[in-house]
Amino acid sequence: MDNNQNRNNGKKPSGQNIGVLTVILLITVVVVSLMNSELKKRQTEQVGYEEFVQMIKDGEIEEVRFSGNRILITPKTSSTKYNRLIQYYTVRVQDSKVTDRLLEQGDVHIIGEDTNTGSVILNFIVGWVLPSALMILLLYMMFNRMGGGNGIMGVGKSNAKVYVQKETGVTFADVAGEDEAKESLVEIVDFLHNPQKYTKIGAKLPKGALLVGPPGTGKTLLAKAVAGEAHVPFYSLSGSDFVEMFVGVGASRVRDLFKQAQQSAPCIIFIDEIDAIGRSRDSRMGGNDEREQTLNQLLSEMDGFDSSKGLLVLAATNRPEILDPALLRPGRFDRRVIVDKPDLKGRINILKVHSKDVRLDETVDFEEIALATSGAVGADLANMMNEAAINAVKHGRQAVSQKDLFESVELVLVGKEKKDRILSQEERRIVSYHEVGHALLTALQKDAEPVQKITIVPRTMGALGYVMQVPEEEKFLNTKKELEAMLVVSLAGRAAEEIVFDTVTTGAANDIEQATRIARAMVTQYGMSEKFGLMGLATQENQYLTGRTVLNCGEATASEIDEEVMKMLKSAYAEAKRLLSENREAMDQIAEFLIERETITGKEFMEIFRRVKGIPEQAPEQSAAPVQEQVPEQSPTPEQEHMQQ
Ligand code: ADP
Ligand code: MG
Ligand code: ZN
Repeated sequence: MDNNQNRNNGKKPSGQNIGVLTVILLITVVVVSLMNSELKKRQTEQVGYEEFVQMIKDGEIEEVRFSGNRILITPKTSSTKYNRLIQYYTVRVQDSKVTDRLLEQGDVHIIGEDTNTGSVILNFIVGWVLPSALMILLLYMMFNRMGGGNGIMGVGKSNAKVYVQKETGVTFADVAGEDEAKESLVEIVDFLHNPQKYTKIGAKLPKGALLVGPPGTGKTLLAKAVAGEAHVPFYSLSGSDFVEMFVGVGASRVRDLFKQAQQSAPCIIFIDEIDAIGRSRDSRMGGNDEREQTLNQLLSEMDGFDSSKGLLVLAATNRPEILDPALLRPGRFDRRVIVDKPDLKGRINILKVHSKDVRLDETVDFEEIALATSGAVGADLANMMNEAAINAVKHGRQAVSQKDLFESVELVLVGKEKKDRILSQEERRIVSYHEVGHALLTALQKDAEPVQKITIVPRTMGALGYVMQVPEEEKFLNTKKELEAMLVVSLAGRAAEEIVFDTVTTGAANDIEQATRIARAMVTQYGMSEKFGLMGLATQENQYLTGRTVLNCGEATASEIDEEVMKMLKSAYAEAKRLLSENREAMDQIAEFLIERETITGKEFMEIFRRVKGIPEQAPEQSAAPVQEQVPEQSPTPEQEHMQQ
């Protein structure tokens, strides 16, 4: 189910083909008639009747042919006065003696009136039909070679028409697992269904939504499902379709696409792999005029169109970080839908979806398969199901068995292991303890749900596990105590690894970076160290771009700062280890739960925590707080990712 299929499914547009056909026919007519008239011009020359009589007398003629009101004359080869290659003719006059004169000459070949229509038809075929057919064939092949009429003829024409699919036929039921993504898209479907409902109140409809997630998680599928659910046309284009050799072509394609889409609104425009055009314009790679023009056009079209008609631009990418910030600002792709790798439950559901048409025997247990495929995405699982079915056929069986499935799991996973991360049993344990370490210390400090959930499903951007923080009130100020607590929490993952496994892994790189940044800021910017007190040691440059800080102190001071930072980190780490050791029992039990289930919610976490510590159940926690980052300046999303590899 990819673009290619759209291309084939979508009916060839008649408009463009008719254009190409017309051009071919025109060229053919012009060329063939030129050819014919050129042939005639070269061949014929009129002579007077008296000259004709003279020619007979002089014995210059080899053959005469009576044709209508003309007498066609072919001179002898030996003739010096007349060129044999030229067809001479004279207008027939009422001369009863002409035949006698010719017969007198003796060696003249006389051919009577040509009444045979067959040869007229033959002439027509040879002179017109055959060359035309040849010509059309040739031109057709030429245009085809140029890319189905998109070469010279198609420059500046939008490809969108080719891709339009009236009904995608895909529904949300075909997409399993991605519940969060589906939820936000359901809302979008409602916009398309009845835009008036929103516009009546004065609400502006969102113009665009960006589907973000790793490859194979079902972004393209979801976009199709949105169109299928809303029963609206679906214009699908890949970002690279816009990027052409000729400058300005991409921009005009964008213009055409939006024009067409607006005419058939409500509808969805889907731009797959938008990073091909949406790459940040200030990239160091040197300007690409074509791409920049295309992007600018897209930006202005997105500002220009009227969303109240129910036109929605969906885009998908697996590299959101390289997109131009202008694309992401409100009024354009202001909604971001995360399409993440499926968790255990999601994987079971995906397997179910893809086994709908597969005959399974009674040994099959999807849960077992899903447990063995942590980190696999929807495309992997679909592929696995298919491989298993093929395997069953190969062995001459009537249904797929659990063994087939396991074999295909190995086939797909081992094949992928190097490219992609599937956690081994040991890694799962380490990652679990690491994440629980972070969460447990947060819980100890706040005595509240530390997290919304922890999962150890391998994540997109290098993170192996992640902790979704509980939203708190928005904070603009942090006390020194809070910052110190943050340091301890950041280092708790590493501390847990050391306590439990007596060894450390590369998984804490991100945590260490974050902790160091906090500690350094405390010393150089916030005046929170004993050694330097209130002395400002760093300034921030271009806050809205990089937010980088520059030290403005002497070299000796700089090395003292490093020492101070090191001291703070060391004591925070020691504190983390002490706290975790004291709560070893809770850590073990929570980690066991996580290893087994892959995901633990904040509630489940606290249940275990309180049970182990003997704390009575509390009243239901205050919920419904708006989702906000815990540490405003650090992470743009409510989730904090860990265990960078
Ligand atoms: P992406 O666009 O994210 O790279 P696709 O949407 O092209 O991935 O998915 C490729 C195929 O994998 C789909 O056609 C579908 O068969 C399968 N697939 C992926 N995710 C899911 C899912 N969540 N549920 C069901 N099938 C899925
Ligand atoms: Mg895709
Ligand atoms: Zn961590």
